[in-house]
Amino acid sequence: MITLHDLHEEGTDGVTDAVLAFGARHPLKPGQSDAEPDWAHAERHFTRLIEVIMGEAAPPQLDDSRDGLVRRAENEARQLLLTLNTVPGYRCPICVKQRRPLT
Ligand SMILES: [Zn+2]
Repeated sequence: MITLHDLHEEGTDGVTDAVLAFGARHPLKPGQSDAEPDWAHAERHFTRLIEVIMGEAAPPQLDDSRDGLVRRAENEARQLLLTLNTVPGYRCPICVKQRRPLT
């Protein structure tokens, strides 16, 4: 599974910024916007995003198509990060979800 770190290593224009912006949504000290990012927290939420996308992309498939599904989900997650980064002051969808439990 691709990670934020992997995306950062890709060093693609825009993607690096989007990764840093996503990290900044997960400060080590909540409430301090200039605090260092909690990368472990951000990585967990990025992984969760991919899982959500995979869950919605297709029903469970045969093992031999699993790689393709994961790759599609990873691409979607990359696109999602880029898209989120065009929204000023966006919030991490996973953080939002966790604070507002389904009722
Ligand atoms: Zn989050």
